[in-house]
Amino acid sequence: MLDIVIIGAGPAGISMAVEARSAGVDPERVLVLEKAPEHSFSLKKFYPENKLVTANYKGFESVCTGVMCMPDLTKSETITYLDRTLRQFAIRVRYEESVHQIFRHEADQRFTVSTEKGDYDTRTVVIATGILGKPNRPAYQLPRTLRNRLLFDVTSVPVENSDVLVVGGGDSASEYVQFLVQRGNRVSLSYRRREFTRMNDINRESLLALARRQKVTLLYDSNIEKVSDAGGRPLVHFAGESPATITYDVVVYALGGSTPDNFLKTIGIKFNGDSPHLREGYETSVPGMFLVGDLSAGPKGGSIIWAFNSANTAMRKILKEYLHLR
Ligand SMILES: Cc1cc2nc3c(=O)[nH]c(=O)nc-3n(C[C@H](O)[C@H](O)[C@H](O)COP(=O)(O)OP(=O)(O)OC[C@H]3O[C@@H](n4cnc5c(N)ncnc54)[C@H](O)[C@@H]3O)c2cc1C
Repeated sequence: MLDIVIIGAGPAGISMAVEARSAGVDPERVLVLEKAPEHSFSLKKFYPENKLVTANYKGFESVCTGVMCMPDLTKSETITYLDRTLRQFAIRVRYEESVHQIFRHEADQRFTVSTEKGDYDTRTVVIATGILGKPNRPAYQLPRTLRNRLLFDVTSVPVENSDVLVVGGGDSASEYVQFLVQRGNRVSLSYRRREFTRMNDINRESLLALARRQKVTLLYDSNIEKVSDAGGRPLVHFAGESPATITYDVVVYALGGSTPDNFLKTIGIKFNGDSPHLREGYETSVPGMFLVGDLSAGPKGGSIIWAFNSANTAMRKILKEYLHLR
């Protein structure tokens, strides 16, 4: 019997395990299950290589309440910090285990968490699977024939010396543009509004500076109606007269991610409208089952420091109600 099973080894899952260890939970009684072959998989996949990882991302205060904390770092420094912390606190992670079912035994405070490789009995469960595993897609159909040219990140397929359209208006969109320009691409950005109000100051300024130097073409107020296959390249159809259609080599969507509603509902978590119903300490409607990180941050999404702090808050509730270690 474990004390805590944590699902997902991203910033939230790692800090959850660290909080448990710091509170005195035995290393043998904390287990992290990660579906990817490595920890922090979302960061590795979605962050451009030279990205500055900002502590106050999306305007969240960079104030840390728990054990883990970080200043602005590069992508590789951030991953090194998470890596080192996992080793320092002797956190056990089982990789390539994707959780598909969690069963709560009504008779006693106990769950069975099932992966394709085994079943784990535990007193509490913390779900830290984030929202990036399910990137938001546009409303129109994407032609399957263009799979390698319609992308949702900038690391899985190398994009160089190409005509690229980035779609979106948040920080990720700006960071993707900056990265793609540095790689020698000719980049345009399609955004449906006239101003970039969702970006932080650094990303907005960097984007506008690139536009002033004519390194990026900003297509404000542009709505894409559909994308079709023009001889193996994406032909983008815009609403309105000008521009009507443009062919690119690659289109990169930066539209954020969404909560895995079906998975959470299947395991019995109740929702308030579109969001999971959360009580004190990010506990769900299922007693002893918690959501941390991006899953606890609401529709705006979270940040790394939000993930660290949510783990600390959840751990305090777990200690008070379920483990009674102190
Ligand atoms: C392009 C981009 C740039 C960003 N820049 C910043 C920044 O500069 N600063 C900042 O603070 N934040 C930034 N963020 C946001 C930040 O990355 C997230 O808030 C943070 O990663 C959330 O951590 P998490 O642990 O909740 O989720 P994630 O980091 O998404 O980790 C979830 C983990 O769970 C695993 N998993 C998923 N499903 C399962 C399953 N069923 N079973 C087992 N494991 C599973 C995944 O493989 C993953 O490893 C950025 C996000 C993006 C997309």
